[in-house]
Order: sequence, then structure tokens, then C-alpha cells
Amino acid sequence: MLLKVFLVLLLNLAEQNINHCSYLPHATPDFTNLSSLELVSSLKKLNLNGNFDFQNTRRVANDFGNRYHFLPMAVLLPKTVSDISITIKHVINMGHNPELTVTARGHGHSLQGQSQSHGGIVISMESLEESKLHVHTCEQPYFDVSGGELWINILHETLKQGLSPKSWTDYLYLTIGGTLSNAGISGQAFKYGPQINNVHRLEIVTGDILNCSATENADLFYGVLGGLGQFGIITRARISLEPAPRSVKWIRVRYLDFNLFTKDQEQLISSDNSFDYIEGFVIINRTGLINNWRSTFSPREPLQASQFSSEGKNLYCLEMAKYFNPEDGNIINKVELLDILSSFSDILSNRWSS
Ligand SMILES: Cc1cc2nc3c(=O)[nH]c(=O)nc-3n(C[C@H](O)[C@H](O)[C@H](O)COP(=O)(O)OP(=O)(O)OC[C@H]3O[C@@H](n4cnc5c(N)ncnc54)[C@H](O)[C@@H]3O)c2cc1C
Repeated sequence: MLLKVFLVLLLNLAEQNINHCSYLPHATPDFTNLSSLELVSSLKKLNLNGNFDFQNTRRVANDFGNRYHFLPMAVLLPKTVSDISITIKHVINMGHNPELTVTARGHGHSLQGQSQSHGGIVISMESLEESKLHVHTCEQPYFDVSGGELWINILHETLKQGLSPKSWTDYLYLTIGGTLSNAGISGQAFKYGPQINNVHRLEIVTGDILNCSATENADLFYGVLGGLGQFGIITRARISLEPAPRSVKWIRVRYLDFNLFTKDQEQLISSDNSFDYIEGFVIINRTGLINNWRSTFSPREPLQASQFSSEGKNLYCLEMAKYFNPEDGNIINKVELLDILSSFSDILSNRWSS
């Protein structure tokens, strides 16, 4: 019992530390004291291309989790990277103030207030206007992009050149800076590593504007990648591309047995001749299977969804994809895909598949 109480306390403390601003989920700071008024007036005097918004701050006092609402003093809407540099240098020059936090905000899709700032300054990275995206179609293609750009826009632009990033997240309305501050994990990570493994260079603002790579300012480069926004602000990134697949064969295999599910996944990701995309997930069967499967079944196929009965148990699903070009379509459909699956023949015989 004592151990359980200790663990619960420990977990709560860990959660509070993530929200470095405050542990109150709805906190409104006092902006009427002298130091706050001085800060506002000094920020107004900065010579920026963009501007500070001191009025509509509530829109950034939220995130995807909708559990934490920290009101900042100001939102910086930077037009240029130098706006961010000037602001951070100004805050540093004001001297040590542990209460004053500066937070980069991408698309605000984190869950626990990570993109918010209690009484501090939120930098809205999506406002950056400087040269958003350049695709370089050389032998080892890559793109240069602003830290506030959304991955969905990168997909649209790179596809025009027949290219796409190697490693993705499942959901694409997230910013470059937001996912590179975490990891960026999806079904390609077993092959290429997470998104942070596919970055050649970063431009990072710590006050100074620094170029970073594995060979230049390497400590900062590796600190910022997966650094939860604590070491600097990503204003540009150079990221690997590969030829985009023209078509995809998509397969789902569903399991009732967790051990079979993980055994198959481990076998598939460690095989050379396997799929291009492999992801496993758990379907919590709380509200009926049709609801839980809404995102993976076509609404035009309700019968298909309703035929699965798991008697209230959780289900597990492996989702796999094999890339191919339509010219080779018959080959991939009839030969290559069967080859891959025949090496995992028990997957098809013992599990539900579609
Ligand atoms: C519906 C949904 C689906 C998701 N799917 C996946 C998935 O498949 N794979 C996966 O890996 N993750 C996934 N995530 C998690 C997501 O990748 C992270 O929450 C990510 O941080 C959100 O990006 P954002 O642009 O909204 O960042 P924000 O929430 O705005 O910021 C998140 C953190 O990054 C920091 N940050 C933001 N921009 C910068 C910058 N330019 N420089 C430095 N720090 C910065 C912020 O300060 C904050 O600490 C998903 C989230 C949601 C809501």
C-alpha cells in the first residue's frame, strides 16, 4: 500500500515537472505588478518586423489535451528569425527571473501545457514568414524548411517533385519544430529511425542564431533534437527525402492475443524482406467496436466493421504497407507480396486479416 501511495505521488510530481510553468491547470497570473508592467513596456520598444500581441493571449492558453490553460503575458508573432533572436536576447539581458518563461509554440498539439507559458512569452512559430520551403532534387535529395511549417504542407510540396520525407508521424497537422522537439514516430521508424534521425542541419536560436549539425555545434544539435523545446528554438531544418512511392498496398491484421501480436511485429520489423511501413496499435474496446474502428473502416462498409466481435476485450492491430509503382502492380500484388507474407504464413492462418 505504502509503495502504491509513493508511486502515485511520484507520478504526480513528474507530471508537474513537465508543466514547468505551474501545477495549476487553469492559472491566471498577476500582470499588474511593477515588473510585469516594465516588461510589457520594454517589449513594446523592441524593433521587430513582426509584433507582440498583448490582448488575444487566451488563444494560446490551450492545447490538444485541453486540460491545461496557462495565460501568457504576450504572444510574439515573429515575421523573421531575427525577431525571435532580439526577443530572447532582451529577456536574457533583463537578468535572471525564474518566473519568466519563453515558449516556442508550433501547432499546439501537445497535451500537457508544453506549448504554453504561465505569465511569460509564447512565440507563435507558424507566423514566421521567411522562405518557408525549398526542395533540393539532387542525388540525395533534401528540403530546407521553416521550423513553423506543417508536415502536411511539406507532403504536398515534395510530392510535386516525386519525393517525400523518409520518416513521418501518423497525423500531419503538426509543425517541424513541434515533432523534432519530441521524436516524430510512425510506421517508417523501424526502417529509418524517428524523424529526428533524418535531420542534416538545424538553425537554432538561443539568443544568437546558430547553424548546427553533427559536425557544427553538435552538442546543441543533439540537445535540441528531442529536447522538448528546452535548449533552443528551431527556426530552420534540413531534412532527408526519398523518391515517393506511386502506390501502396495496405494490409491490416487484427489480434485478440497480445503475445502473438508483439511476436509478429518483432518478426516483421527485424526481417530484411519486409514491409515499408509497420505499425502496431491497441484498440480499447469501451464503446463498441464500430466506434473504435471508425478511423480505419470506410463508413460505406458498416457491415465489415460490425462483423468483428471481441466480447469486450481489447483488440490489437498490425498495420503494414508495401510501396510499389503501378507499372509493377501485378508483380507486387501476385508475387512479391505473397512472398513476404508466406515467410510469415502463420500470420495469415491464425489471425484475422483484411
Ligand atoms: C492527433 C495527434 C496525433 C499525433 N500523432 C503522432 C504520431 O503519429 N507520432 C508522433 O511522434 N507524435 C504524434 N503526436 C504528438 C505530436 O508529435 C507532438 O505533440 C508534437 O509536439 C506536436 O507538434 P506541434 O507542432 O503541435 O507542437 P506544440 O504542441 O506546439 O509544441 C510541442 C513542444 O515542442 C516545442 N516546440 C514547438 N516548436 C518548436 C520549435 N520550433 N523549436 C523548439 N521547440 C519547439 C514546444 O515548446 C513544446 O515543448 C500526435 C499528436 C496529436 C494531437
